[in-house]
Amino acid sequence: MPYEAEPMDEVDPVCKMEVDPEQAHDLGLETEHGGIRYVFCSKACRAAFVAEPARYAGVEERPAL
Ligand SMILES: [Zn+2]
Repeated sequence: MPYEAEPMDEVDPVCKMEVDPEQAHDLGLETEHGGIRYVFCSKACRAAFVAEPARYAGVEERPAL
């Protein structure tokens, strides 16, 4: 089967693209908000998130307190 599941991939909260977290880390395409790490496909997505984290973060997931 050509499809290879990669559960380690994370999703860019801005554009919903799957992102390799290691690559994002190497490129500095990550940030943290509310104790959760987010990764991005590009600097543009990261900048959009940093500008309005509340718009992208915590929409589907919220930290269990
Ligand atoms: Zn993106």
